[in-house]
Amino acid sequence: MSTSVLVINCGSSSIKYALVSERREDRIFGLAENLGSADARIKGVTTGGAELELSIPHAGHEKALETILERLSHHNPQAIGHRVVHGGTLTKAELLTPEIIERIREATPLAPLHNPAHLVGIDATMRLFPELPQVAVFDTAFHQTMPSHAYRYALPKFLYTQHNVRRYGFHGTSHAYVSERGSMLAGSFKQGGWLTAHLGNGSSTCAIWNGQSVDTSMGLTPLEGVVMGTRSGDVDPSIHSFLASNLGWDIYKIDKMLNSQSGLLGLSDLSNDMRTLIEASEQGNEDAALAIEVFCYRLAKSLAGLSCGLPRIDGLFFTGGIGENSAYIREKTVSYLPHFGFNLSKDLNNNLKRGTEGRIDHGTGPQIWVVPTDEEGRIAKETEHVVNEVSATAKKPDAEIAIA
Ligand code: ADP
Repeated sequence: MSTSVLVINCGSSSIKYALVSERREDRIFGLAENLGSADARIKGVTTGGAELELSIPHAGHEKALETILERLSHHNPQAIGHRVVHGGTLTKAELLTPEIIERIREATPLAPLHNPAHLVGIDATMRLFPELPQVAVFDTAFHQTMPSHAYRYALPKFLYTQHNVRRYGFHGTSHAYVSERGSMLAGSFKQGGWLTAHLGNGSSTCAIWNGQSVDTSMGLTPLEGVVMGTRSGDVDPSIHSFLASNLGWDIYKIDKMLNSQSGLLGLSDLSNDMRTLIEASEQGNEDAALAIEVFCYRLAKSLAGLSCGLPRIDGLFFTGGIGENSAYIREKTVSYLPHFGFNLSKDLNNNLKRGTEGRIDHGTGPQIWVVPTDEEGRIAKETEHVVNEVSATAKKPDAEIAIA
């Protein structure tokens, strides 16, 4: 990468940022949190790995962004890349124009917690830095290659045609990065059939054929699919009417329970954090042990289901905080997939250094790799690509554009 790109991920009360340049180890990054409160602050890592902690009492998004950019301005970022969770039916990263901003706004009903926060950040950076090209990179875009039989729900057609009710999928930048990087390590760059398991607080799986997403576990929202930290993943949709009829719960209470009180936290009644659960289960906590077992079984089941989208399986990539760091979860998950011929090497799996990439199978059957994700790096790369494309088009003589 020849330029440096500032990557911004705006949440409702926090902003993650990273200045991405050529060398990953030179990255400057941080988090502005508690925005809008007396406790607002920026914590991060600055040049040379030095730690940064800065109090910005009562700062909102705009003030925080201004502070972040002031501190980074001498690095001369050439563009800003915004992570946007939902791009609706947009299929690739886009230069932010009034029309694209309107498309992000239109997708708000599909991501009511995320898109409004992204729009606040976009609005602030557009006002503060009107001269910098800015690009939106969507979590959903990578999955726009899914065939209709993978993205349609078996619901009345008008819900799709008039209200965009379909499966979109998320974590696209991670699945795209990991499958590209992993297939390159395997010597078959963007070729063949691969499964990815992104396992963090939010988790999802993806099937990728020749570099394109053909199916994924998340759907209309990030609630569908595998068991997550606090999200239930797949449940019988009749749970809504059951809880409404029998417990008198309203839709908001049910939604909150499924998104914030379920998953590993709900099953264990202890924690949403996998490390805590592994420790508790080692000390004999049966609920924690069951939560881990359900997590791994349902994950394996999701991977097996997604394999239907692939003509053949070349291998499996693990990523995300759990996928990158827990040999135990990787082993347990693969143990539920013996019929796929996976042949995990206990030694390679256990001895892989945390946070590093590496192959962890015996060399027979489909390959198994751990590939640390790099969503910021991927967003920066896509941002740079869009900016280069736009400036190349701007430089083309009119006649050439007419032919192209
Ligand atoms: P996010 O989705 O918020 O980015 P991460 O990708 O950082 O989350 O993943 C967080 C999860 O990774 C937590 O459940 C945490 O316990 C788990 N994790 C991190 N290190 C380990 C480890 N060594 N063993 C098991 N789980 C781990």
